[in-house]
Amino acid sequence: MNPAAMRNAVFLDRDGVLNRATPRDGRSFPPATLADFRLLDGVASAVRRLRAAGYTIVVCTNQPDVATGRQSRATVEAMHEKLREWLPIDDIQVCYHTDAHDCHRRKPRPGMLAEAAEALGIDLAGSYMVGDRWRDVEAGQAAGCFPIFIDAGYRERQPKPPFARVGSLTGAADFILNRDNLRQEKMPSPHDLAVKLFADGADLESIAKLYADPKIKGFTTNPTLMRKAGVTDYEAFAKRMLDVVPDRPVSFEVFADDHAEMEAQAKRIQSWGANVFVKIPVTNTKSHSSAPLVRKLSAAGVQVNVTALFTLDQVREITDALHPDTAANISVFAGRIADTGRDPLPLMAESVEIMKAKPKAELIWASPRELLNVFQANAVNCHIITATPDILKKLDLVGRDLGRFSLETVEMFYRDASAAGYTINLDRGPAE
Ligand SMILES: [Mg+2]
Repeated sequence: MNPAAMRNAVFLDRDGVLNRATPRDGRSFPPATLADFRLLDGVASAVRRLRAAGYTIVVCTNQPDVATGRQSRATVEAMHEKLREWLPIDDIQVCYHTDAHDCHRRKPRPGMLAEAAEALGIDLAGSYMVGDRWRDVEAGQAAGCFPIFIDAGYRERQPKPPFARVGSLTGAADFILNRDNLRQEKMPSPHDLAVKLFADGADLESIAKLYADPKIKGFTTNPTLMRKAGVTDYEAFAKRMLDVVPDRPVSFEVFADDHAEMEAQAKRIQSWGANVFVKIPVTNTKSHSSAPLVRKLSAAGVQVNVTALFTLDQVREITDALHPDTAANISVFAGRIADTGRDPLPLMAESVEIMKAKPKAELIWASPRELLNVFQANAVNCHIITATPDILKKLDLVGRDLGRFSLETVEMFYRDASAAGYTINLDRGPAE
């Protein structure tokens, strides 16, 4: 077949990649019953994103328990019927044998991948194999695919390099899609971004300037910024800000630490304008959850922006507390999470999925660290990102030719060295 007419695929192992595997003695085992067969968090959105990018999705799974009699073929087939219901899958390849059968389809042999490629017109060299065990990685290598290892920390033989290592199928999908973008030099223009840019501010003059920019879709404030800007009368400042920004969302924070007082403040703040969101910290300083207060306020029609979330459990708790008919924001501090050495992307992608239960709720990527975060937020369908002035400045650099950018950087070094008058005396001979 003409390679141009061929499709690229992502081959996926099943247990521990798509569905929960049961850990035992540092190893993982397939679910025993149909009732135990459940998708892992984030899997549905990762598979949909890969398919939307044009990949054919093929599951390749070893199920040797059928040969040994520990599992029935009918149960495995019923699980795969479910899998097709839950996920947009093009093909499922199964090998029921054990090593003793010497089957060419049993991973780490590449038979399942090769046969699916033949049947579906897949270009193996442009395809990926994603799995959580050495057998998957090495089957991908043998087939000529790019192998991606989901490292779940099993105490067993590790795959032979080379492979890419990720933490979940969401991580694998990010890796594949980012690699595609890089290879195709495909950069979205800032005008094509679905993620909305919000600006953080407390100085009315710069807020007015930002309001004149149609790219800025909303505003947030915080007590730290306001103090820096010399704000003394909170309510008077807020009202002046709402004169400047009458028709885009603006968040103002409550100051109380006691939930009853927070409630009274929230109702007062909400009365300042229809575009006002009331910022509520996810807990008070005594670590008491604000979820019951959020539930009350949201049910009463108060638009909240629940802030300072760091974990998926917090996202689940707050999403659950929101009223389906009231707009709300949930601010997850992705940048601060990244500051601890953790990749915030899988957590943000999963938060988007969790929040689908409340369609009027939007996720905010708070505390961004660099311009790249705007594109990362966009890639995982995060609704909003709060952009600092530093990041807004860099929007002009998006898509700049890297060869030209390199030359400009060299020119800058040269200019600065010349301006400083630095010289190296070449007549003195080498230093001793
Ligand atoms: Mg597996």
